[in-house]
Amino acid sequence: MSRRRRIYEGKAKVLYEGPEPGTLVQYFKDDASAFNNQKRGVITGKGVLNNRISEYLMSRLGEIGVPTHFVRRLNMREQLVREVEIIPISVKVRNVAAGSLSKRFGIPEGTPLPRSIIEYYYKSEELGDPIVSEEHITAFGWAAPQDLDDMMALSLRINDYLTGLFLGVGLRLVDFKLEYGRLWENEEMRIVLADEISPDNCRLWDIKTNDKLDKDRFREDLGRVEEAYQEVARRLGIFPEGGPGEVKGPKAV
Ligand code: UDP
Repeated sequence: MSRRRRIYEGKAKVLYEGPEPGTLVQYFKDDASAFNNQKRGVITGKGVLNNRISEYLMSRLGEIGVPTHFVRRLNMREQLVREVEIIPISVKVRNVAAGSLSKRFGIPEGTPLPRSIIEYYYKSEELGDPIVSEEHITAFGWAAPQDLDDMMALSLRINDYLTGLFLGVGLRLVDFKLEYGRLWENEEMRIVLADEISPDNCRLWDIKTNDKLDKDRFREDLGRVEEAYQEVARRLGIFPEGGPGEVKGPKAV
């Protein structure tokens, strides 16, 4: 591992040069951060679980025709992905009021939204990832209008699919954050889903108890953080109960 060239190190992942041109190895760490890096910690086993959860969700999305950067999982903590040009915009999709939306508008957490809401944020740690409008994005050249149309359409499809998938295992998909990249193939450019989808960037609440099964347990010091990540993997049928070899299918509730 140490002999590979490190391309980028983020808060929760490291990207290494991949085995073939145009590929990268995405390594999932146990490190956790929140509030623009002001809170830091370790969630033991998170990297292994997020690697599996993201593999599972990206694979299902690929099967319904959502283009993603995911190629295959390599081992416990690593997956092979296509190298893309990351668009500096995070897309947040919200179904239920929580987090910064509840704060900004004074809407109590847990209020269902009349329809799904999409928000864009400019990815800049020094500026604290400010919320931006489509006008800002196109005026400053962060993405073209066509890129934004693609990102919006894909995000809504992903939301529809994942809402149903999580509902099937007793979880409410409250909100989540997506990242996209540009993939060039023979002069043609496609917008593809990048980064990861895991309890690090989704809010997932138990349908019956409203128990939080995501990174809010770390952000809000709610305890049982590791257990929450394990529970999501278990419900998706990808938590190896009897050792790493044993993986069952999704568990309906
Ligand atoms: N989120 C994320 N990375 C961030 C900020 C938020 O993945 O840097 C996710 C978060 O887990 C939640 C969704 O985006 O599922 C909406 O987050 P919100 O804007 O409410 O911000 P937060 O309250 O998490 O700061």
